[in-house]
Amino acid sequence: MPEYTANELARESTRKRLSRIIESKPLIQGSLVESLRTCGKKGCRCYKEGPKHLSTYLSVRQGNKRIMVHVPEDAIPYVKECIANHQHLQDALAIISRDCMEVLISKKRQRNKRTKE
Ligand SMILES: [Zn+2]
Repeated sequence: MPEYTANELARESTRKRLSRIIESKPLIQGSLVESLRTCGKKGCRCYKEGPKHLSTYLSVRQGNKRIMVHVPEDAIPYVKECIANHQHLQDALAIISRDCMEVLISKKRQRNKRTKE
């Protein structure tokens, strides 16, 4: 049985978490933005002085443009979940990247030690 260090086990579970998110979770790279708007109906409270309507938009970057997509009230939980899943993915990728950098640095240190001996 091979022995694993705590770091190796942590890395393994991070990769598993990453795979699980990619395989089965909905993902959106974007953020929710709330905005006050007028609806355009002349009889509405928002037309005169009353409070405006609070609307939620999904802000997504496409190339160097930012697009805004209106999110209906009942779709907000789904979009929030998609954004959170994407964030988890980014966090897990950052952990794996950092671990791989540490491996590279420790290999370089070992090689430098060997060449000095
Ligand atoms: Zn209105």
